Amino acid sequence: MADDLAELLHELIVATRILANQKVLDAFGHVSVRHPRDPGRYFISRHQAPELAEVADLVELDLDSQPVRPTEFRLYSERVIHGEIYKARPDVHAVCHHHSHDVLPFCVSGRELVPVFHLPAVIGHVPFWDQHDEFGDTNMLVVKPEEGASLARTLGKNWMVLMRRHGATVAGTSLREMTFRTVYGCENAALQSKAMAHGHVDHLSPGEMKLSSEHSVRPPSTNRAWNYWVRHVERAGLMPAKAGARRATASATRAKTKRAPAKRRSTTRR
Ligand SMILES: [Zn+2]
Repeated sequence: MADDLAELLHELIVATRILANQKVLDAFGHVSVRHPRDPGRYFISRHQAPELAEVADLVELDLDSQPVRPTEFRLYSERVIHGEIYKARPDVHAVCHHHSHDVLPFCVSGRELVPVFHLPAVIGHVPFWDQHDEFGDTNMLVVKPEEGASLARTLGKNWMVLMRRHGATVAGTSLREMTFRTVYGCENAALQSKAMAHGHVDHLSPGEMKLSSEHSVRPPSTNRAWNYWVRHVERAGLMPAKAGARRATASATRAKTKRAPAKRRSTTRR
């Protein structure tokens, strides 16, 4: 595996640990990254609580969210969220789907999520998607390609979408930008809820939102936050080992290519 790909997959695991350590992800939710050299593919963990994922647990999927190579890993049923967004948005290179308890009150009430201080300006306008509108009664999981495509349509040109009675999906042009937007999107939701208890919510003007967002998505800001969150992951003893991860990936890739055809075991849970 080329060093840049190994580095990216390691960073995907670090992003996942950050989002778990920040309590955005719990037993559920998932994070993915687009292949750096093949825009028609992306990487995501096999089905498990995201914090447990190692590089060796990553699977490479096409944009129809099918494994590129045979695998016996169980896959996330909601992986179509990722594949359909990558399909619709060539500029998106990282996606997180979560059910953070900070954003869920907005998903339940339908109250608009608006940036209430400068750092979350990166969430921009956050549309609502209601699976029931198009698909009626479901088990609430986004499992069919057409459901993922519908979600991607509602996301449109935005970067975050709230899913009624379910959670949120956040996109970014890189893992670090997506992580920044995801964490501050949740912090904004928590603060907005507190401000609503005061009886009045002030929020950024469209001009403030544009200028603040442009400032915050620059690498000096996203790297500064990333390094801070990495320190917290290290303190929690959750930092994945880099060199070991590379060796594990190489052996896992070899093992997987010898295994039986995939679809037999590609049954899924969110
Ligand atoms: Zn979900």
